[in-house]
Amino acid sequence: MVKNLSFSYSKLGMYKECPQKYKFRYVHMLPEKPKYYFAFGSALHGVMEYIYDAKNPAFPTLAQALDFFTKNWNATTFEKKGYASLEKEQAGYEEGRRIIEAYYQKHQGSFMHPLSVELKSTLETDGLNLVSILDRIDYLGDGKVMILDYKTGKTVERAPDQLYMYQKVAEMSPLIKSLVQQTDPSVQNIKVEKLCFYHLPTLKEMYFERADDKQIVEFWHGVLAVADDIRAGKFSPTPGENQCRWCDYRNICPVFTGKEYTGPSGYGARFMAPVADVPPAQPAPAAQPKTVQEDLSDKIDRCGAAFSEYERLKKEIIAIMEAQHFTQHFGVNYQAQLKTKPRMDFKDKQKVVDLLRSLNLLKKTLVPTQTTVEALLQDPSIPEGQKAQISALGQKVEMTDLELKKTE
Ligand code: SF4
Repeated sequence: MVKNLSFSYSKLGMYKECPQKYKFRYVHMLPEKPKYYFAFGSALHGVMEYIYDAKNPAFPTLAQALDFFTKNWNATTFEKKGYASLEKEQAGYEEGRRIIEAYYQKHQGSFMHPLSVELKSTLETDGLNLVSILDRIDYLGDGKVMILDYKTGKTVERAPDQLYMYQKVAEMSPLIKSLVQQTDPSVQNIKVEKLCFYHLPTLKEMYFERADDKQIVEFWHGVLAVADDIRAGKFSPTPGENQCRWCDYRNICPVFTGKEYTGPSGYGARFMAPVADVPPAQPAPAAQPKTVQEDLSDKIDRCGAAFSEYERLKKEIIAIMEAQHFTQHFGVNYQAQLKTKPRMDFKDKQKVVDLLRSLNLLKKTLVPTQTTVEALLQDPSIPEGQKAQISALGQKVEMTDLELKKTE
């Protein structure tokens, strides 16, 4: 059975920025250095969560919010936050306080408890385990919600594609539906009515209309294309002045070293050093025992990386065996056999979309791809008559798959 690829909007962003960088981070599992802007953003997100926490019936005062911010801010050193000096960290702290004060001045009189804050959603769809953290969801009544995402960087204006992803996640998430039903038990469907980026440094709110089906489909095709490239092992670097200047992996990047990175020993072990001045390797500090969560995250990522490699090799093996007209071949420990199996091929995608919409089945999939439409045909909750209508739009074709067995 094909395993889902763990994916998120930030992983998508990193792959688009540079596939080789994604490979260093998520295939080789090399962490990046702490970044001050992440620490700053995380501190302000923490304050927003504290303000709107549904567990507290009364909203905290400005003094309490500032205390909360200060306590969290002081829990780590400036180096761990990624600041270059104590002075820069202090400037970040002052800016954080200024933002919180301005936020209270603007909103204190109209605080309302949202449906959720910092809600982590994991949605399995289209071969992906899509992980999203929805900063804030407000309930507007009649099953309608507004999704709000806080921004803390320098860029104020931005494209709404991240919100498009959250819109589809929110409308498919059983967790969000159950939260709404706690307030409004008669609600059967969730509809995202409004989308908003809230830029905290300027207190600017940017509202967007909900994306229509066409926008979601276009966006999601882009996501699935990236996921396919990751599974196929496509990690060619896309160097550029901006991304390479701040990239932590310059010292091991093939663009700068002229050779492929081969693992954590040798020159690769020193990747965190400045590119122009690589110091001699230092003895490694004693390893801290991992928490259960860290250990689990490691295993999940290693498993995902192994799966990507498996998918890539499988494609190569099938291509070679087909070119050589082999149906079976042997390694030292495994034997490979090509198998053909029938599947449905839908040439006219638009007709499929139109039919699924008319049958009210479009919500069962983010995008009607080959795989997801085939899954609908196996879904026992869909009436046989509807399945027959869908099947009539496709034709049966043979596809080749690879079966691997351990040799005796
Ligand atoms: S140095 Fe540039 S090309 Fe190399 S991984 Fe980083 S961003 Fe990509």
